[in-house]
Amino acid sequence: MADIVYRRDPIVIPTAAGRGFQVRRIYCVGRNYAEHAREMGNDVREPPFFFAKPADAIVIDGGPVPYPPMTADLHHEVELVVAIGFDGVNIAPENALDHVDGYAVGLDMTRRDLQAEAKKAGRPWDMAKGFDCSAPIGPLMTHDQIGHPRSGAITLKVNGVERQRGDLTDQIWSVAETISYLSHFVALGAGDLIMTGTPAGVGAVVPGDVLEGAIEGVGTVRTTIV
Ligand code: MN
Repeated sequence: MADIVYRRDPIVIPTAAGRGFQVRRIYCVGRNYAEHAREMGNDVREPPFFFAKPADAIVIDGGPVPYPPMTADLHHEVELVVAIGFDGVNIAPENALDHVDGYAVGLDMTRRDLQAEAKKAGRPWDMAKGFDCSAPIGPLMTHDQIGHPRSGAITLKVNGVERQRGDLTDQIWSVAETISYLSHFVALGAGDLIMTGTPAGVGAVVPGDVLEGAIEGVGTVRTTIV
C-alpha cells in the first residue's frame, strides 16, 4: 500500500461546462445489462438492486488506480454515470430526468474474488466494490450539452484491445426507472452519482494496464493500473 493519499477535501469532478460537481454519495446498480447478468449466472429482469461506494473512491480522469490489496482478481466494469443535480424522494419515472445534472463515463472497479466469496456466504459486497480508488470517472457532461442519452455504444478497451461492448439500449432498467427506484430507498440529493451497470465482457486487469472506457455521445474515461 505505497503512496496512500488521504483525501480530506471535498471530492470535485470537473465538468465540461467549466464548473465542478461536488460528489456526495455514489450508488451503483447491479446487473443492468442482460448479457452481463447472464455471464454472471443470473436471471434477467429482476427488480434493480443497489450497492454503494464512498465518495472518495473517485479517481479523476487520467489519474492512476493503485492495484488494491486483498485481491488477486481486479475486474473492470465500464458504466454510464448519472450525476444528480436536484434533490428528490419517491420520484416518478416520468419526472426522473428533471433531477439529472449530467452524465459521465465511469469504471466500477471490482475485487471479483471477494465479490464471489461474499455472494457465496450471503455477505455484503462493500469490500469487493467500495475500496480506495475503485471509481475512476471521466469529465461530467451536462444535459444541456448532450441531452439525456438513451442509446449509444458503451465500450472498454484494455491496452487498446476491446474487452467490453454493449449499447445503452441494452439496459434492463432505464436511467429514469433507476432514479425512480433508488429514490424510494434513499432521498436522492444534488451531488449523488449513480453508476448504472455494465455490459458483458468484464475481466481482470494487472498493473501497467491502460483502461479506456467510452460511451457514444457522452465521452470517455481513462486510467492506468499501477
Ligand atoms: Mn457495476
